[in-house]
Amino acid sequence: MTLTEKDSQYLWHPYTQHKTAQAPIAISKGEGALLWDENGKEYIDAIASWWVNPFGHSNRFIADAIYKQLTTLEHVLFGGFTHEPAVKVAEKLIEILPKNQQKIFFSDNGSTAVEVAIKVALQFFFNKNEKRTTIIAFENAFHGDTFAAMAASGISFYTQAFQGMFIDVVRIPVPVKGQEQESFDALRNVIQNHSCAGFIFEPLVQGAAGMVMYEPEALAKLIQICNENNVLTIADEVMTGFGKTGKTFAMDYVTEVPDMMCLSKALTGGTIPMAITTFTQKVFDAFYDDDINKALFHGHTFTANPTGCAAALASIDLLHTDEMQANIERIHKSHLDFQKKIEKHSKVITARTLGVIFAVEIKSDSEESYYGSMRTKLYNFFIDKGVVLRPVGNIVYILPPYIMSDEQLQKVYKTIEEAIEMV
Ligand SMILES: *Cc1c(COP(=O)(O)O)cnc(C)c1O
Repeated sequence: MTLTEKDSQYLWHPYTQHKTAQAPIAISKGEGALLWDENGKEYIDAIASWWVNPFGHSNRFIADAIYKQLTTLEHVLFGGFTHEPAVKVAEKLIEILPKNQQKIFFSDNGSTAVEVAIKVALQFFFNKNEKRTTIIAFENAFHGDTFAAMAASGISFYTQAFQGMFIDVVRIPVPVKGQEQESFDALRNVIQNHSCAGFIFEPLVQGAAGMVMYEPEALAKLIQICNENNVLTIADEVMTGFGKTGKTFAMDYVTEVPDMMCLSKALTGGTIPMAITTFTQKVFDAFYDDDINKALFHGHTFTANPTGCAAALASIDLLHTDEMQANIERIHKSHLDFQKKIEKHSKVITARTLGVIFAVEIKSDSEESYYGSMRTKLYNFFIDKGVVLRPVGNIVYILPPYIMSDEQLQKVYKTIEEAIEMV
């Protein structure tokens, strides 16, 4: 049996209707921006394997750091113990995060980073004997698939089986150009009519919604409104973090600072699953008490896994090299050139770029759903051409590893242009 045949016998894949889905592609090797399947076919990974892999596949620098850590201390429980890699990650992050972030809490993936933030927002007020139970989130948000993260997510076909079983979440429109005032008014309205504990948002770019972008000034205004009303703000930087927007964090573009931040995906350069939620001193202090009941009773067995921490340290080092910063700038400029070219095409609705993120919306005759027919046609076309891209409905986005060469990038652009002609 081939790997693919064995897979279909034993495995259950994420976001997959197995009855109608095509068989998965078995990947046997990755290097830099390239992947190879079991038949030796080469693919350009133009989405950094779901946005986790900025420094390329099988990166030696990170691999060496992991190996060294594995043969020094692979894991120790974090309840009652600590270790140098965790302390170093915390120290490093506090140096590069917005100035008000002072405390670091480890977990395992983007959803748990969000889960922790939402639990902390709710317990913050519980600890102060204040009844605030509503979380505010954007329309079409994506914050993950665990229960609180799912409640905060607004992409409905992910969550429809669980409606009525969620914590209270009220949604406001995203302040995209021209709709800022509507978004501000909606936020004020929600705060007036509900007992709001926190506002969670993907800063500047909503990834899973199809790289929907909005301006830092609008986000600053929303955060100000929350601050005036003592509503905690949670910046979910699981996708945007570590250079994707052109700065280390999307929040670096925003004049206001959040109360909490969620990090994962590129945190370990796409090697080891790990996540972090960060907090201000004010948030931490609401749990700091002689009363044990005010503690945060949340943890995971692999919390602050030293190997993951070593991978994170190596990744952050790589991100801050001149070479990597130059790569980010190079890809950004290249995207802008491509955007200028493609947005004039008669089949293109709009194109947009921020940092290394590029997205183009393609005209379609029918109302396309997330997994609609145009999406399938585009996806198959790209795979056939040896380019890994996962369109969201009629939106095709690129989020390349920063080390992708100009030649590879041009091939991705060319394939997208061909796809636009094809549909
Ligand atoms: C991917 C993502 C998550 C969920 O992360 P997982 O590691 O998949 O659980 C949460 N928030 C945002 C913004 C994401 O892009």
